[in-house]
Amino acid sequence: MHTCFIGVGSNLGDPVAQANQAIAALSELADTQLVDVSSLYASKPMGPSDQPDYVNAVAKLTTTLTPLALLDALQYIELHQGRVRKDERWGPRTLDLDILLIDDLAIDHPRLTVPHYGMREREFVLYPLFEISPNLVLSDGVALSQLIQSCPRNGLETIDNA
Ligand code: ATP
Ligand code: MG
Ligand code: MG
Repeated sequence: MHTCFIGVGSNLGDPVAQANQAIAALSELADTQLVDVSSLYASKPMGPSDQPDYVNAVAKLTTTLTPLALLDALQYIELHQGRVRKDERWGPRTLDLDILLIDDLAIDHPRLTVPHYGMREREFVLYPLFEISPNLVLSDGVALSQLIQSCPRNGLETIDNA
């Protein structure tokens, strides 16, 4: 059994609805339980700035899927929600599901790097993760609360998701 944190992001096609639909899909994944989910957050785009703001959240799962099977399942959900992979990095997308952490595992596979390489610098990952897991300490002993202290919010705001 693994405990995993998943980053959810969307900035196309009603991003709030996309994020909520993705969270519902995570709750229905085989061999997986959705344990917790953060609020939804509005964030500024990373990379190309000529694109809509993002909606982000972080979900906590337990699963008996292998890490690569979990990645397959997340990519299936992305495709199901209309994600078209383009060459442009960090361009607009209906849905992005990134594996942030799996237990204290370090994975270096052509398709999967865990912990996610960008998570320590991304406000739209760190703040939602902190909301649901304020006492989290990464495998190298760095506390999430420390990372938050050196990560400006960059306009990040919670969204009323009523
Ligand atoms: P970034 O990874 O910087 O957030 P992105 O999420 O837009 O950018 P994608 O196009 O979603 O990037 O993914 C590119 C590839 O990254 C995927 O095909 C996947 O195999 C690989 N990948 C490596 N590590 C991970 C991970 N931890 N979670 C999800 N995908 C990963
Ligand atoms: Mg991403
Ligand atoms: Mg991704």
